[in-house]
Amino acid sequence: MIVVTGATGHLGRLVVDGLLARTSQVAAAVRDPRRADDLAARGAQVREADYDRPETLAAAFAGAEKVLLISSSTPGQRLAQHEAVVKAAQAAGVRHLVYTSVLAADTTKLFVAPDHKATEQLIRDAGIPFTFLRNGWYTENYGQTVQQALATGSFAGSAGDARLGAAPRADFAEAAVAVLTGDGHAGKTYELAGDTAFNYAEFASAIAEAAGKPVTYQDVSPARHRELFVAAGLPEPVADMLVDADRGIRDGELATTSGDLSTLIGRPTTPLADAVAALVKN
Ligand code: NDP
Repeated sequence: MIVVTGATGHLGRLVVDGLLARTSQVAAAVRDPRRADDLAARGAQVREADYDRPETLAAAFAGAEKVLLISSSTPGQRLAQHEAVVKAAQAAGVRHLVYTSVLAADTTKLFVAPDHKATEQLIRDAGIPFTFLRNGWYTENYGQTVQQALATGSFAGSAGDARLGAAPRADFAEAAVAVLTGDGHAGKTYELAGDTAFNYAEFASAIAEAAGKPVTYQDVSPARHRELFVAAGLPEPVADMLVDADRGIRDGELATTSGDLSTLIGRPTTPLADAVAALVKN
């Protein structure tokens, strides 16, 4: 049995679908089973698994050979939540724990990284055979940016002309499916990102091409970038995180030349033009 946590999330649903195409032994471990009827209808077992209620995790992992821990979406509580999952996986005798981490988790300065680095260490310390999927940025993170560009003809950022190796969630999900259904991945750490990194000017050109109208990128200082986010109504911690992401791009932390993503999925990663066209349609 392969158990996927966070299975009602965007990435989780894609992973469950990919697994079901290969095996019927799939359990969707979800915080709220009422939101998982579609997963059950497609053939997944639905099991309640709330990271904040560790008592749910033992039953969720019963009989699990492999578990994919999809990192939680609640900063500040993530490490304790992940610790509960790792302990439950250990107690259930899980033979392979796969974890969605972040690029270069052990060295990156990204705000989101400390939880990932600490979770990787927890998993190593637990002694469960593991695979770390160090995911780069999802192209879908730029959905709002694309909508803004379509509405106003431009978007702002503070990454200069540095490059970002984003890829659609579907590519990362396919990599998780490959690891969960393949052999030889235990003990491996994969640095996952799109094959061809792009800068924001190229991103603007891709939006313009897909939309059939001009779009430009406006590079601003990090301080100005933060002001723009706050003026648009984003909470300050979110603005800080997004400005930090552009700092990460400037410092080369959100691209990799590892080629691990295309190697795992057995094809080139989705081209930027296709990823952007999907965002323009939404
Ligand atoms: P989503 O927000 O769509 O999914 C997050 C999942 O975590 C949801 O299924 C959510 O459950 C689940 N979750 C949150 N809290 C709990 C809890 N207490 N117990 C059980 N499950 C919980 O994010 P994505 O699928 O897009 O991304 C997956 C993860 O990747 C994120 O959680 C985050 O850690 C990370 N991430 C990576 C990004 C990148 O660019 N690489 C960008 C953004 C996030 P529910 O469905 O009930 O809400």
